[in-house]
Amino acid sequence: MSIPRTRRVKNKEYKEIALERINILFREADAVFHEDRTLANRYVQLARKIGMKLNVVIPKELKPRFCRKCGEFLVYGVNAKHRLDSTQKIVIYTCLACGNERKVPYGLEKGKNKKESVDS
Ligand SMILES: [Zn+2]
Repeated sequence: MSIPRTRRVKNKEYKEIALERINILFREADAVFHEDRTLANRYVQLARKIGMKLNVVIPKELKPRFCRKCGEFLVYGVNAKHRLDSTQKIVIYTCLACGNERKVPYGLEKGKNKKESVDS
């Protein structure tokens, strides 16, 4: 149950474990959110820490689940909103805790999917 403290861990196994933990933490955050938001935020914090330590990218599908600015775990319809801007073809995710916006393009043409499968 220990993750080495060195920053040079390149072992794929550790990354897989880290990724698994990140997924678990987000799932847990989701589960406790309605009872304890502080705890949910704490889980996000931990997940990000693990990711940074082991240089693991937070999975694409989890990225909209937290605010990069204030670290809040986001649940759409509760403390976050997302809307589509069809003229610019972007999705705007807004954190209602700090107002931070994250813009993600959608409907990308082929050939633009660089870095898509970097860690698989
Ligand atoms: Zn925020």
